Amino acid sequence: MRLSRMVLALALTSSLAPLAAAPVVAKEAKIVTEAEARERAEAMLQRMTLEEKAGQLVQYFDFGGATVANPKATAVNIDAAIAKGQVGSMLFVTDPVRINALQELAVKKTRLGIPLLIGYDVIHGLHTIMPVPIAMAASWDPATAERGQAVAASEARAVGINWTFAPMVDITMDPRWGRMVEGAGEDPVLGAAMAAAQVRGFQGGAIGTPGHVLSGPKHFVGYGASFGGRDYDEVDLSENQLRNTYLPPFKAALDAGAGNIMSAYMGLNGVPAAANKWLLTDVLRKEWGFKGFVVSDANGVDSLEKQGMAGSPKQAAVRALEAGMDLAMTVPSNPSPMLSLIDAVKNGEVAESALDGPVLRLLEAKYRLGLFDKPYVDPKAVPRTFDDPAHREVARIAAERSAVLLANAGGLLPLDRAKLKSVAVIGPLGDAGHDMLGPWVFSSNKPEGVSVLAGLRAKLGVGVKVEYATGTAWPTRKNPSFFDAMNKPGEHPAIDEKAELAKAIALANQSDVAVMVLGEAQNMAGEFASRSDLKLPGRQQELLDAVIATGKPVVVVLVNGRPLSLGDAKPGAVLEAWYPGSEGGNAVANLLLGDVNPGGKLPFSWIRSAAQAPYTYAYLPSHQPGSADKRYWNEDNSPTWPFGHGLSYTTFSYGKLAVDRASVKLGEPVTVSFDLTNTGKRAGDEVAQLYIHQRVGTSSRPVRQLKKFARVALAPGETKHMQFTLTADDLRYWSAATKGWVQDDSAFDVWVGGDSKADMATTFTVAK
Ligand code: BGC
Repeated sequence: MRLSRMVLALALTSSLAPLAAAPVVAKEAKIVTEAEARERAEAMLQRMTLEEKAGQLVQYFDFGGATVANPKATAVNIDAAIAKGQVGSMLFVTDPVRINALQELAVKKTRLGIPLLIGYDVIHGLHTIMPVPIAMAASWDPATAERGQAVAASEARAVGINWTFAPMVDITMDPRWGRMVEGAGEDPVLGAAMAAAQVRGFQGGAIGTPGHVLSGPKHFVGYGASFGGRDYDEVDLSENQLRNTYLPPFKAALDAGAGNIMSAYMGLNGVPAAANKWLLTDVLRKEWGFKGFVVSDANGVDSLEKQGMAGSPKQAAVRALEAGMDLAMTVPSNPSPMLSLIDAVKNGEVAESALDGPVLRLLEAKYRLGLFDKPYVDPKAVPRTFDDPAHREVARIAAERSAVLLANAGGLLPLDRAKLKSVAVIGPLGDAGHDMLGPWVFSSNKPEGVSVLAGLRAKLGVGVKVEYATGTAWPTRKNPSFFDAMNKPGEHPAIDEKAELAKAIALANQSDVAVMVLGEAQNMAGEFASRSDLKLPGRQQELLDAVIATGKPVVVVLVNGRPLSLGDAKPGAVLEAWYPGSEGGNAVANLLLGDVNPGGKLPFSWIRSAAQAPYTYAYLPSHQPGSADKRYWNEDNSPTWPFGHGLSYTTFSYGKLAVDRASVKLGEPVTVSFDLTNTGKRAGDEVAQLYIHQRVGTSSRPVRQLKKFARVALAPGETKHMQFTLTADDLRYWSAATKGWVQDDSAFDVWVGGDSKADMATTFTVAK
């Protein structure tokens, strides 16, 4: 296959080389243009009855008859509803045979033969699992994310999925929130770059590119700022925060061409997002000119009743429609509220024409995706795509590029293979192939990941003894997750903890080095996985302390999606592997042994404890700037590791920082240049970061803001002369004082370096 060969070629290039974004448009393919799609959609709309229009606004989950929340629930009969033209889209079905059957019902049994949009949460892979999105953000390399999502798209499209509910572009400054793992962290500039890259990966050059899917950034907007980091709780964000921080990644995703957007669950400033007209119409359509369609989050329209915005499903549907909602995602334990719009129109509660815009947008998406021309897939061809070795290569390289070396006291890493005779792999995640995949991967997709144990064994071969001890058991969730029903039962069998701890200590004592694989199990991150502290779950801290007490060198490999505290432990090295995906163990082995040099950086501030949340490096200056890190009397509030932090097996130095003009006029660009040198003995990647601070403004501006970054590969001793150009767009912001976008005349501080604490500084002035 064309795509596979291309991906393979890219993948086989050195994983340290800054790879160009994969060109993913198959030139010979005929793509239905936006204009063509609109014309065909309008012609179709003319032929539609009110009932047929309402049906297009309905999306149901397909759980094979039952619902996840209630496996015994009497569900809507999906097949019959599709045949009656009461469904426009389905989700959560991944079996190509079933998808074809659903499409056949829509195409052959309904009067107009309109095919279905088939959506799914292809968040970081379908069969070949990429590192979780927070990991891909940690690569600080948009091309890595783009390539990973292009592979994910090809696997999804092969089974008949034509739309992904991704990327999740919610900013969060609160790691208690479990869904941090699905996003790009705390920063809007990094978040916007990752959002756009993922959209390009999913959709290819244009909507309808063969082997690609429609992309729907979510959750519009503010979900990552829920009270207390508690999933689903309300959000109260000022327009200042929304405009400057939370909205930019969405804007970037739409500018990159995303054809859909998903509204959030929760109330934003008192109005549930699914019925928030300011959001869905004023900002999205009027200001941004978005032409794609809006889908609610699961039961988002139905939930308006529970959220006190509607007294009936009908009122919920009318409210959502009037706010700008197009498609309601609904668990089929009840008929979709959108069907009650038929009644609402007949009773004069809403005009039939109010349905036309949503129907047109949904039909346009179907035409652009080529579904009218090719509604079915070939199930027999699926294994060819799934088993493409190029996909595993992309996954491994993405995992390698995502890893962050957090600490490496005394250069413990990379491990010296020549001297290594025995390795103790210890910890509940050491042999956990399934947990390596992270959230939004279900057993039905059938992929397993390579564990760290398997990866090290494969890499080190028979000459090195690699033994394993779990060391401790997993605690069970006090409040179980409904997602557990979709994952392997009995994944974490009960063990004799005392005996396991003793075994782990004995193993460490007998080995040259202990590699402790610690963190959170798959169901401790993601949706419905918020937590009230950031400690290592269960007795992992005790295990870590006990193994360190043996005096053996200890490397901690973290598998997780949020910052975790290691207490007072000081292991020799800490490698953040995240949930690294299908090839995780192989990637970790390559990193630990130094065949790959870590080059990732933190996409969030690694706070010490949940009590510090919410936290950002980009806070506003206070009247007491001198004590900014000393706000608590009992401890400092600086993070353990700052935003942008990440080490390497080599060292880098920055120098010769200069601006091309010390003073520019409003609207003019300024170019910042500097030299970046690899001062060590190994090749390596550094992520050069540029931060600014505007000294005086119409509003107060953050103490630092990331504005530019570049991941750069450098040979030992090599120096690269780098340039970043700051444009007027980079310097403008939304001011709560003027309620609009401004660029102020002011002096600006500039810092360039390897993290948000960079101290190489210069200034420039913007004059009127
Ligand atoms: C999540 C969405 C997801 C949807 C469909 C919801 O619970 O919030 O992110 O896309 O389910 O699975």
